[in-house]
Amino acid sequence: MAERDVTRLAVLGATGSIGTSTLDVAARHPEAFRVHAVAAGRDVEGLLAICQRHRPARAALADASAAAQLSARLRAEGIAGIEVSAGEDGVAALAADAEVDAVVTAVVGAAGLASSMAACEAGKTILLANKETLVVAGEAFMETARRSGARIVPVDSEHNAVFQGLPGGKASAPGVERILLTASGGPFRDRDPDTLAAVTPEEAVAHPNWSMGRKISVDSATMMNKGLEVIEACHLFGLAPERVDVVIHRQSLVHALVGYCDGSYLAQVGSPDMRVPIAYAMGYPERLASGVELVDLAAAGRLDFEAVEERRFPCLRLAYQALRAGGGACAVLNAANEVAVDAFLEGRLRFDRIAAVTEEALAAQAPPAPRDLPSASAIDAQARRTAEAAVARIEG
Ligand code: MG
Repeated sequence: MAERDVTRLAVLGATGSIGTSTLDVAARHPEAFRVHAVAAGRDVEGLLAICQRHRPARAALADASAAAQLSARLRAEGIAGIEVSAGEDGVAALAADAEVDAVVTAVVGAAGLASSMAACEAGKTILLANKETLVVAGEAFMETARRSGARIVPVDSEHNAVFQGLPGGKASAPGVERILLTASGGPFRDRDPDTLAAVTPEEAVAHPNWSMGRKISVDSATMMNKGLEVIEACHLFGLAPERVDVVIHRQSLVHALVGYCDGSYLAQVGSPDMRVPIAYAMGYPERLASGVELVDLAAAGRLDFEAVEERRFPCLRLAYQALRAGGGACAVLNAANEVAVDAFLEGRLRFDRIAAVTEEALAAQAPPAPRDLPSASAIDAQARRTAEAAVARIEG
């Protein structure tokens, strides 16, 4: 393959589970992909190992002192020719680099917003994995993409499955009626809801099917993760909330279904391994080997589907509530939930009170939709203050 056919990648959030899976798929297809830039938050040794293996032209760490350490470690290892930048601006600069064709946005949390936006404004192909981009600033992001011509291919397993089930990835295609996102139900799907007050951080991060970071694991246990995914799906595919449903599917083999007006569902089925959706997003519209085998359906045996119990998962209801409220409500929901989850992980808030903190923040403010990053961060900051006050009062 000629050099011009090589896709030059920027992998933001390179040390996390999505970043690692992306680099794994890229390494399987050296003729098709070159890792041009990698970025992470503060994991010096993790990014150093990636630099040694993939030899990118650029690397960045959001934490400035960690970036200085990385430069020193690269020198100590005798690795030359990697330009290191620091800070969130440094990470966002990689997203807009003229030598990058496709950007994997896998930075976790609201910190990933600036780099996703930078990639969008630069008109890149975006392999979107950062949830907050669409949750916090969905309207501004999609509008920017329309203007810049950025192509957005979702990496999250559910949205990627929907994308695969839609003609040309578009829900505006004739005959599309609704989409159905599946949820594993997390570690507490069978636990007596009356005992959720006693849940410890260790229990909450032990996901039955997926291995993920701590924050998203807690979100999975409360099902706020699914709520955020419903919000993302509405923006990504231009759907009203009532056309997006959630169903519990404990095997995590069917990731989403697209329902058509003729009574057909198209389902995407695959192992719960992020390399499956990542390889699809990287190769789209072609299929790439991901290193993952087809599911042995006879060995799997069953595909179960169940309704979501609202009493057990109040966070899902809050997400629909924010979506219907519109404006900046989803940004409030997201920020308040981050505060509540942090407080839970630090032992400052009971698990079953995460929803209460988030609900209080939603009730306290109804800002307009953020137009840009500064207005998004203003909403975010205000919601965090409200949520912190709620945590202090509820646990006080
Ligand atoms: Mg997901």
